[in-house]
Amino acid sequence: MTDYRAIAASLTFPKKVLIGGVFQDAASGETFETTDPATGKVLAKVPACGPEDVEAAVASARKAFESGVWSGLHPTARKAILLKLADLIDENTTELAVMEALDAGKPITDCVEIDIPETANCIRWHAEAQDKLYDQIAPSAPDAVGLIVREPIGVVAAVLPWNFPLMMMAWKIGPALATGNSVIVKPAEQTSLTALRLGELALEAGVPPGVLNIITGMGPDVGEPLGRHMDVDAVTFTGSTDVGKRFLIYSAESNAKEVCLEMGGKSAAVVLEDATDIPRIAEIQAGAIFWNMGENCTANSRIIVHHKHYDALIAELAKQAVTWVVGDPLDPATQNGPLVSSEHMAKVSGLVETGKKQGARVVCGGEAGEGLIYKPTVFAEVTRDMVIFQEEIFGPVVAVTKADSDEQAIELANDSSYGLDATLYTRDIAKAHKYARALKAGTVGVNAYSEGEISTPFGGFKSSGFGGRDNGVHAHEQYTELKTIWIDLNG
Ligand code: NAD
Repeated sequence: MTDYRAIAASLTFPKKVLIGGVFQDAASGETFETTDPATGKVLAKVPACGPEDVEAAVASARKAFESGVWSGLHPTARKAILLKLADLIDENTTELAVMEALDAGKPITDCVEIDIPETANCIRWHAEAQDKLYDQIAPSAPDAVGLIVREPIGVVAAVLPWNFPLMMMAWKIGPALATGNSVIVKPAEQTSLTALRLGELALEAGVPPGVLNIITGMGPDVGEPLGRHMDVDAVTFTGSTDVGKRFLIYSAESNAKEVCLEMGGKSAAVVLEDATDIPRIAEIQAGAIFWNMGENCTANSRIIVHHKHYDALIAELAKQAVTWVVGDPLDPATQNGPLVSSEHMAKVSGLVETGKKQGARVVCGGEAGEGLIYKPTVFAEVTRDMVIFQEEIFGPVVAVTKADSDEQAIELANDSSYGLDATLYTRDIAKAHKYARALKAGTVGVNAYSEGEISTPFGGFKSSGFGGRDNGVHAHEQYTELKTIWIDLNG
């Protein structure tokens, strides 16, 4: 068996940011510590960038973009370089996976089997797609030609969360680079390391200097100046709804840059009267909430269940929760490591205590384990007026609510300010279609929890999303401008 602790002990962490193809310190020389949430140990000191570094990164991205060194390449040439990057990610899976597990507290098996392969897969998919897409010609009289073309938007800033650090970076840079843009990435301050390592691999793959810049630091010091910058053409953001909405203000108060936001969620699974195999449903839904410590935007943190299945589902969920393996993220058997930080632990515990005070029943869990571990938690008797029904907890905590009828179950699922994901269990094909349409969510899984695949658009309704989608060729829309070229053939 691979000894991940030994690999962790021998890792060298990247310590410099990437601007204009050069690894460097922050202009101020300042740093901040990034820690291992499993042990509390400092892993590395990372540059604490500020507005001066943002200026330098935007200038280098703009220069690269206008030079055509990347934006001016044939899509097939960009493809070759991005495929090389995907191969390098695959070759360095173990190193990247251990770094991710240490920095974010994510279970190593998930990092090795999901996060890192999906990062490579995403970059490869967009690289492969780009040279197979055609522009359009509009219907016109024979003496005119109306071309409808997509062009790269220019300088893109990507502001990232900490829950899937590399995968979210790939979701942004994959389509942004494939479509010919120059990009500035700002990783979450909790998880900067793998983003910087990916920068090294991108240079090795042949991404030209200035095309991919990576600057680390705090939201107000780096994220906000990027959001307000007059020479950034688009911001793509994944994170909380509160911060996401600020980018709309930054844009309105600067250059009306394009803004695409992937934000929070309070996704519901709905178990209809005709659903069968409750143990299977419980197993799927345990994964849908406990996976990645519940630190997953699409986590199904609510289950709305027809009263006929209510008791059975709660009993089966409890069985799942108590057998969920929590512990050391570097142990391959671990399913849940620690929460990402003590601040986040305080938020999760606080919301659970609110749930208890408001009268929800703790079936299992409901308390912290060792260190920053939070025990997988099932709440029953949750009603729509409770905070734990409405607010994103972003921890391994599921709220189960009883419905009197199928119609009421769908109505309860939609009673949320969020609309990212939903799951529907039924054996009736007509109900599957009808209710999948009725659920107000960007992705609906039927008889399975699903976020779709790299080929399908991902994003949210209501306060879960704004301005576009990640994944699929639909993601390319946020990184390109649509242009009409009208040619008068009589001229
Ligand atoms: P966050 O909003 O706190 O931080 C996200 C990023 O924004 C970080 O890089 C942070 O430094 C930056 N930031 C913070 N304050 C800022 C400011 N004032 N101005 C500009 N930038 C600022 O989110 P998080 O805690 O890192 O991630 C958790 C959240 O992300 C959850 O709500 C989760 O649902 C959401 N999320 C959504 C998706 C999705 O695709 N919809 C995916 C993953 C996570």
